Amino acid sequence: MAEVRTRFAPSPTGALHVGGAHTALFAWLFARHQGGKFVLRIEDTDEVRSTEESLGAIYDGLNWIGIDWDEGPDLGGPYGPYIQSERLDTYNEYVDQLLGSGRAYPCYCTPEELEERQEVMRKRGLPPRYDGRCRDLSEEERRRLEAEGRKPCIRFRIREGGTTVVNDIIRGQVGFDNALMGDFVIRKTSGYPTYHMAVVVDDHLMQISHVIRAEEHLSNTPRHLQLMDALGFEPPQFAHLPIILGPDRTKLSKRHGAVNLMDYKQQGFLPEAMRNFLALIGWSTGSEQEILDLDELVEKFRLEEVSKSPGIFDLEKATWLNGEYLKRADAEYVTEMVEPVLRQAGLIEADLSPERREWLVKVVDLMKERTRLLTDFVSWARYFFTDEYPYDERARKKWLRREEVPDRLDALAERLETLEAWNVDSIEAAVRGLADELEVSAAKVIHPCRSAVTGQTIGPSLFHLMELLPQETVVGRLRRTAELSRAGELEPTDGEG
Ligand code: GLU
Repeated sequence: MAEVRTRFAPSPTGALHVGGAHTALFAWLFARHQGGKFVLRIEDTDEVRSTEESLGAIYDGLNWIGIDWDEGPDLGGPYGPYIQSERLDTYNEYVDQLLGSGRAYPCYCTPEELEERQEVMRKRGLPPRYDGRCRDLSEEERRRLEAEGRKPCIRFRIREGGTTVVNDIIRGQVGFDNALMGDFVIRKTSGYPTYHMAVVVDDHLMQISHVIRAEEHLSNTPRHLQLMDALGFEPPQFAHLPIILGPDRTKLSKRHGAVNLMDYKQQGFLPEAMRNFLALIGWSTGSEQEILDLDELVEKFRLEEVSKSPGIFDLEKATWLNGEYLKRADAEYVTEMVEPVLRQAGLIEADLSPERREWLVKVVDLMKERTRLLTDFVSWARYFFTDEYPYDERARKKWLRREEVPDRLDALAERLETLEAWNVDSIEAAVRGLADELEVSAAKVIHPCRSAVTGQTIGPSLFHLMELLPQETVVGRLRRTAELSRAGELEPTDGEG
């Protein structure tokens, strides 16, 4: 078999959408699995909507989830340039070829005229398509229209009658009625090719073996096949990936969460978790296994196993997966990832001393089992970094409003203040010692203490987390909480007793 070559061909008209990232990932996984090449091609034939900025956003998004390319605008390669606006002459050659063979013709209809005529078709209950008015103009009629100052676009002549069959790896054979297609534009009046023209020429010249793209392009494929046939190109294999829906089975949109890939970075996702999550939309290994690292994804990915039915973008699942990755990752790595998040939240200084960095790794090690997103460190682990943390409702209701608690916290503060050594053992001994003296269970001291020092009723081992806080900080928090509790300021705020 010839070399496997796949491509991702985004239009640079905005940030990289999760749908785009999904397409890129599948095309990339297939290429890597087959030991083939993956090409990045930028389809900027929409002169109005394409931006330089978006190109940067595409690179950033792909880089973030670890998709690399073998050929592309930045790397070059044997079939460059890889930006369509730099290939206009190439497309023109093929447009000329089609004009020469009579498979294409100039069309002088204005957008207004087209709209008017399509409106009539719609009213008659017909699908609005090009009615073929300029299909068979005589030379004389053409000259007359040009003399009116009309600039033509070029249309491709669809075969009349019959069906065009798309052989799709995922969907099998799908037939399209030629009569419904209508002659379509291949070169705009601006001189730019349309997507259809450019994609067909480029996939051929760049020797793409497998066109892997989103389902929305399936209905374009019969047009592409006819173009390829008219140009004498051997068609590639096609695989149209399932569309992605939200959990309510409507089209994925902002209502379901962010649609831009990089927003997930901002929300505290690890790139490998996001990649794993995207890979499992519309594909599974067929086993229970859901956590797959990069090598496993590459090894196990099969295009034939991709589902035809829509994939679901389930943020709950993404968050769960991220938590699993955080749990398994080593603390040093998670620290690296969480540092910028904490810094952005103003919780750590710009330059960490080596000691402070070491301390941070310990905090991360203690907390990563209990976090699902990197941003959870800003909320759930806030008390490690600042005295300004909220007392949550459960802590208020269960412990901090109790009559005996302020005295107990003060007594504990006094014991802890005089400890010579500040470590898990000495802290634990002090806490249990107080409980013994008061003749109450250790829990009756531990819970109020946790509520005071962290503002929460759950968390990692209390003695371990206290060890990571400075002695005077813990003592200060116990006393502050006692005072607030006595003053009645730690009543539940939600109005429920
Ligand atoms: N530029 C097209 C898009 O962004 C690519 C379609 C294709 O892969 O052929 O949707």
